[in-house]
Amino acid sequence: MRDEINLRAYGKINLGLDVTGKRPDGYHEVRMIMQNVSLYDSVQIRMRRAPGIGMQTNLPFLPTGPDNLACRAAKLLMDEFGIEDGLSISLYKKIPVSAGMAGGSSDAAAVLVGVNRMFRLGLSKRELMERGVKLGADVPYCIMRGTALAEGIGEQLTPVPSMPECHLLLAKPPVSVSTKFVYGNLKADSLPFHPDIDGILDGLERGDLAGIASCLGNVLETVTIPAYPQIQDIKDRMKENGALAALMSGSGPTVFGIFTENGAAEKAGERIRSEGLARQIYTVRPFYMHRPVQRKYAHGMRGE
Ligand code: ATP
Repeated sequence: MRDEINLRAYGKINLGLDVTGKRPDGYHEVRMIMQNVSLYDSVQIRMRRAPGIGMQTNLPFLPTGPDNLACRAAKLLMDEFGIEDGLSISLYKKIPVSAGMAGGSSDAAAVLVGVNRMFRLGLSKRELMERGVKLGADVPYCIMRGTALAEGIGEQLTPVPSMPECHLLLAKPPVSVSTKFVYGNLKADSLPFHPDIDGILDGLERGDLAGIASCLGNVLETVTIPAYPQIQDIKDRMKENGALAALMSGSGPTVFGIFTENGAAEKAGERIRSEGLARQIYTVRPFYMHRPVQRKYAHGMRGE
């Protein structure tokens, strides 16, 4: 048994997000392309003398009790395996909250992985993913990590080739969006468009960044952008300043832009900040479980 474990919980963006129907139980059927980014929360789990689960975080507005997904994840395994030791979880958040980047789900995933290792529970990745879905539809992906096609309610995962190397600008306007509000107001049977998820998969297969950029799409923008029009302004500003494409991630409001040069991404970020459109702005890279293979047609420059 280990006394302490330190983990990174990476955020994600959606290169594509489509809703294909609504199930009788109210959940939406989705088809999404998930990609981790290099922005992460730091999670430390330590043994403590007092029984139960204690928690600290750098964000004073976050719950630190049973409402925090990190605590719920620890409790889930501790209850199942009858662990009576006390645990202390320290969470240093950098992933914006209520932002469409699966921050809470990723923290929960890190805690499941951490508790499994600390107490040598012997659960496989798949077994952890089966437990993770009880905490949220994105948790299994956050355990798997990398690049994936997510179907069903988001829990049916197929690993796909990583996004080609690039620079990503993330900008979150100062509004919090509830995922429940967005799905609750989505007109799933009369969507005005469906993103070309197969086109994105094809671009990933060929390592074609420009091809991927040309297919980006997220149906949840139809709800979140009318409610928060500054999301469209941020997308426009990124595109005017050199992004190959820009899209809202998940249920929003974070927007990401794809750039081939870091300097251009930084400059676009400065523009967005100086106009007051967003304060939480980051330049990041895709996070890779495995480095992408350098392909002949990378960045869509065929015939080189
Ligand atoms: P998703 O992309 O999965 O919809 P999100 O980025 O929109 O996630 P989160 O930041 O994961 O949203 O969670 C937002 C809500 O969950 C907030 O109301 C917050 O109080 C609660 N919450 C519980 N635990 C956490 C956590 N560890 N980190 C962030 N938020 C948490």
